[in-house]
Amino acid sequence: MAEYNSKAIEEFSDIWVFCEQRDGKLMNTDFELISEGRKLADQRGSKLVGLLLGDQVADLAKELGGYGADKVIVCEDPALKIYTNEAYTDVVCKVVMERKPEVLLLGASNIGRDLGPRCAARLHTGLTADCTHLDIDMNTYVDFLDKNSNVDVANTEFKMEDVNMKMTRPAFGGHLMATIICPRFRPCMATVRPGVMKKAPFDQAKADACEVEVLQMGLNADALHEKVLEVAKEAKEIVDLIGADVIVSIGNGAAKDIARAKELAQQLADALGGGVVGSSRALVDAGLMSADRQVGQTGKTVHPKVYVALGISGAIQHKAGMQNSELIIAVNKNENEPIFEVADYGLVGDLFQIVPEMIEAIKAQK
Ligand SMILES: Cc1cc2nc3c(=O)[nH]c(=O)nc-3n(C[C@H](O)[C@H](O)[C@H](O)COP(=O)(O)OP(=O)(O)OC[C@H]3O[C@@H](n4cnc5c(N)ncnc54)[C@H](O)[C@@H]3O)c2cc1C
Repeated sequence: MAEYNSKAIEEFSDIWVFCEQRDGKLMNTDFELISEGRKLADQRGSKLVGLLLGDQVADLAKELGGYGADKVIVCEDPALKIYTNEAYTDVVCKVVMERKPEVLLLGASNIGRDLGPRCAARLHTGLTADCTHLDIDMNTYVDFLDKNSNVDVANTEFKMEDVNMKMTRPAFGGHLMATIICPRFRPCMATVRPGVMKKAPFDQAKADACEVEVLQMGLNADALHEKVLEVAKEAKEIVDLIGADVIVSIGNGAAKDIARAKELAQQLADALGGGVVGSSRALVDAGLMSADRQVGQTGKTVHPKVYVALGISGAIQHKAGMQNSELIIAVNKNENEPIFEVADYGLVGDLFQIVPEMIEAIKAQK
């Protein structure tokens, strides 16, 4: 193996995506990241490679090709069947040190957040956590700044030849967006928030054309310090906010009668068409709603066809997770709340009175 030196940046090439599998199934985030990785690889004129670890998971690889991967490297070993930080870090770092990718993306899932920083430390490089936007090409980045920031791009000098990945993420509690680069070390690593990047349409021809390389890792299980003895899954239904077309979220304004509010929100979601109930963080912190329902900067980022905010003030951290929804309806008894700034339709009044009327009106329309 050629000596690995993370400062020899000219030796590194290609965009890599760590693809997560659980119980032998790929995650939605894999498809989002591969789709985003495709965009970056096209900007850089390089290859897009998926990195998949597991035990007998090679059959999953081609599907990643359908979302844009040119190649998938599958690292197989019985010790990789279930995620452990130690074995996964060893394998990811070994392959990265041998093959030297320029960029390595991971999902900001529980696994990605655990694995990414340890790999970055071992690989002597930087990692930007929880990114919401990525660019390599300067023209695309400047265009992004022009549309999404108050930077006066016309009067700012940019180094247009810059090929560092520009990693943008919310900072200071979501009050500003920071773009971070890693100019002196490779690979340039980032974790990306689930649900933010758009999944490309699946293309069977690309899946068929995707190259798959399987590496048998031959790990010594006895030498590993971490062992999973048992996986106990919590017997609760986890709500799929990210894939939902309709989300009706409730906030602190619903707290005075949470049971009734939950019932009304679900009825409204059903009336609008198979929707699910989300929440602001205020209700999650108060123990009135489960964390998997939280929308916002520290919850899920969603873009459903319809998002209804009931009794939610519209704090910047909540808006960060829902403002790209196709249609936003807000119900709030205070007409000056910031939620109305992003709402397409606003109803001012008590949600406990308005929502039953909305449900009746929708049913009557049908
Ligand atoms: C680092 C950080 C991360 C955060 N991450 C998130 C996040 O991911 N998601 C998130 O949601 N928040 C997040 N927050 C918290 C956020 O700042 C707000 O505190 C939170 O969103 C407020 O929730 P809320 O709108 O439900 O409550 P409130 O701000 O208390 O608003 C309640 C609203 O209900 C209205 N209301 C009251 N009664 C009624 C009624 N009967 N009918 C109609 N309207 C009524 C009120 O007018 C008010 O607008 C974060 C904060 C920080 C600092």
